[in-house]
Amino acid sequence: MQGTEVIETINPATEQVIGTVTLGNQEDMRRAIAAAQRAQPAFGRTTKLERIAMLKRLQAAVLARTDDIRDATIEEYGGAFSRAQWVSQYASQCFAHAADTLDAYAFTRQMGAATVVMEPVGVAGLVTPWNSTAGSICSKLASALAAGCATVTKPSELSPIQTQIVAEALHAAGLPSGVINIVNGRGADVGTEMSTNPGIAKISFTGSTATGKSIMRAGAETMKRVSLALTGKSATVILDDADFAQAIPAALSAGFLNNGQACIAGTRILVSRARHAEAIERVVAEVAKLRVGDPRDPATAMGPLVNQAQYERIQHFIRRGLEEGATLVAGGEGRPEGLPRGYFVKPTVFDNVRNDMDIAREEIFGPVLSILTYEDEDDAVRIANDSLYGLQAYVFSSDPAHANRIAARLEAGTVMINGMKAEFAAPFGGFKQSGIGREFGVFGLEAFLEAKTIVSV
Ligand code: NAD
Repeated sequence: MQGTEVIETINPATEQVIGTVTLGNQEDMRRAIAAAQRAQPAFGRTTKLERIAMLKRLQAAVLARTDDIRDATIEEYGGAFSRAQWVSQYASQCFAHAADTLDAYAFTRQMGAATVVMEPVGVAGLVTPWNSTAGSICSKLASALAAGCATVTKPSELSPIQTQIVAEALHAAGLPSGVINIVNGRGADVGTEMSTNPGIAKISFTGSTATGKSIMRAGAETMKRVSLALTGKSATVILDDADFAQAIPAALSAGFLNNGQACIAGTRILVSRARHAEAIERVVAEVAKLRVGDPRDPATAMGPLVNQAQYERIQHFIRRGLEEGATLVAGGEGRPEGLPRGYFVKPTVFDNVRNDMDIAREEIFGPVLSILTYEDEDDAVRIANDSLYGLQAYVFSSDPAHANRIAARLEAGTVMINGMKAEFAAPFGGFKQSGIGREFGVFGLEAFLEAKTIVSV
């Protein structure tokens, strides 16, 4: 290894240093890309059955480390127990889902007089964020490997312990040398090398819109294919015929998902003027029930934010909301009572938010929600769609046909009705500045394939 920069890893619940990581540098990235390039020709020729067997081995190897992944997600990231448990299980399931998709996929199709063959695009660079380390690494890897692409992964520099456990598990699966490479390092350093190196054919990135744009610009020179899963500022439309006893707790849990550090968090909650007072009353009561604290305790709903910078960012947005004239109905600045240490923040809800306020336009990436009031359903749809982003929206209604009519009008890659449930066979990705391309299922597989048309005359 060539990199020498060492950074500390801090447990966000205790602020104690729990480890150090030596970051890779550009030369490490170049070596990893070269290893993947050497592996690509043979790996790209493997059969469907061979790759299904590899995916099954990866699933078993990651499954064997589920508890370790969960514990690292709690210790290093501050993920609350139930969320950390979900992520750790999801990490291994990704490989099983990709194996099923691969099994059913036709790589060769007849289209008119042509035979169309789907071929692996080449070496794939996978870049992941800190808010879902094991899940993002495994889901991207699963689709890339199913397609026959050798890979180089650059995880977030904030997640080295989670990355180490996943890397050990992947190594234990015994895939051919060079097919899976992982380089820890900074985005501006190893990430830039990945976006500009001609050895990378495709980048699958998950992270912020700002970084996604710079990867796309940098990749244009070598015409890299890009899939970008980016920022969200999702709207939750609660229709007047919704059962508020079910809808309000579900909307809050979608908003506060993953300690509020989730791209799919429903952070703009839209209620009608007619039922506004009732909605606020329920919001106040529900937020009061949320337990913030030790993420190791299964009764905890919300752990700390990932680091000091995130803590400061959230405080800034709470102050900004107040300056802009929104009113607090829950939470506010500072740490929750009884938690003097750790990057804990209060679950915060603003009322009287206008959609042109910063707190309604920018992704806060913490547990700070906005309640916006609509006059009628056209107004609700207008407000929901008045955003640069369009990742995942939510609709609550007791009438399925009504909910579907509203869902059809929302500009979002995914619309959840009456709750939240992951569907791994279906595409996931963003409209507008929430991204380009789709992950999961057939769409996720095809993101790593190139179509070749062969016509015989
Ligand atoms: P980020 O954009 O700061 O970083 C993401 C990754 O990109 C990290 O590994 C980082 O090191 C790397 N990176 C940074 N600069 C780079 C560069 N110039 N070239 C290549 N790589 C570079 O995002 P983050 O703070 O880690 O994650 C939070 C963001 O991710 C939020 O905006 C969130 O909405 C988004 N996110 C989106 C999804 C989705 O599926 N749409 C899922 C999770 C997170």
